Amino acid sequence: MRLFDTARRGVFDLDTESVVTMYSCGITPYDSAHLGHAFVYLAFDVVQRRLRDAGFETRCVRNVTDVDDDLLRKARSLNVNYLDLSAREMAKFDRDMQLINLLPVYSEPRATGAIPEILTLVDQLFEAGSAYEVDGWVYFEASTFPRLGQVSHADRSTMLALAAEHGGNPTDPRKRDGLDFVLWQPSLEDEPSWDSRWGAGRPGWHIECSALAMRDLGATLDIHGGGRDLAYPHHDCEAAQSETATGQPFVKTWMHVGLVGLDGTKMSKSLGNLKFVAELAEESEPAAVRLALLSQHYRSDWEWRGELLAQSQSRLATWRSSLLSGRSSSILDEVRAALDEDVNTPEALAMVDAAAYGGFNIGPAAALLGITL
Ligand SMILES: [Zn+2]
Repeated sequence: MRLFDTARRGVFDLDTESVVTMYSCGITPYDSAHLGHAFVYLAFDVVQRRLRDAGFETRCVRNVTDVDDDLLRKARSLNVNYLDLSAREMAKFDRDMQLINLLPVYSEPRATGAIPEILTLVDQLFEAGSAYEVDGWVYFEASTFPRLGQVSHADRSTMLALAAEHGGNPTDPRKRDGLDFVLWQPSLEDEPSWDSRWGAGRPGWHIECSALAMRDLGATLDIHGGGRDLAYPHHDCEAAQSETATGQPFVKTWMHVGLVGLDGTKMSKSLGNLKFVAELAEESEPAAVRLALLSQHYRSDWEWRGELLAQSQSRLATWRSSLLSGRSSSILDEVRAALDEDVNTPEALAMVDAAAYGGFNIGPAAALLGITL
């Protein structure tokens, strides 16, 4: 299988052994997951399905950020415990992912379940001379990692702007440099906290993914990624702290998924322009939602349009009618080849359409795409 690697900026053969390790950055469960999230995890699901079909074992980890500024703010506004809020939203998320037929993940670890590993990792960064503490805040010193930006290829001014946009606070006066990022921070009065040698606090944003990925999958991951907007700061910061701690490459292939828009802009909680899997699955059927998402290439940014659902519904009808045919064809191998070339699902769907119209049975090809007819 060949995949586009964000860091090398090209499509390369997947470099792996018989067990493929994958890590996709999961959700912060403070609000309903929308179609943009589903699109990310679906891309990882298709890769897993094709790799398993080709005889590999896959281990895909998807974390849950269950302690974070947004989650704590929302829990405070609802006057509920942050873990109750997180459990409720996770249950909804899991149902949504089942609706679009995602394979179960290898593990779904939580940030709050990895505090000892996080503290150990921060200690390693101190030992490496890349961490410093000011008033209970612990930072990664960006200047000690000259490769910062190796994932996103963002230049310094872009990195500073993106850090500011994502709550990284480059003008924090405690920082030695605006690109330094938080590893550990003091908790506010009503926030959860854990003891550490820098005082009671909680982890920064990026450190959990390094700690969880390396704990569950080892120092070097075959495939790691998430939404395209995570490349900087999240993934560059993960790479910086992981590689500093272990001295080994953190990720062989960085896989980034395009953003889903609606009404001419990015789908986002803050804009309130969201579409949800459960809602769309009721309007049509779950398989049509999966098919609509598969009709877009995973790396493209695209706009959700209502007619995609109707098109997918009629596509399903065509595919189903082909099941009555006893005529087999090479369609399964053609779909495999399309997926092997950077997960070209739009091409795979077009091939299945042609085979179904041609009166061939496309059942096995649909099954490989995770579509149950
Ligand atoms: Zn992450």
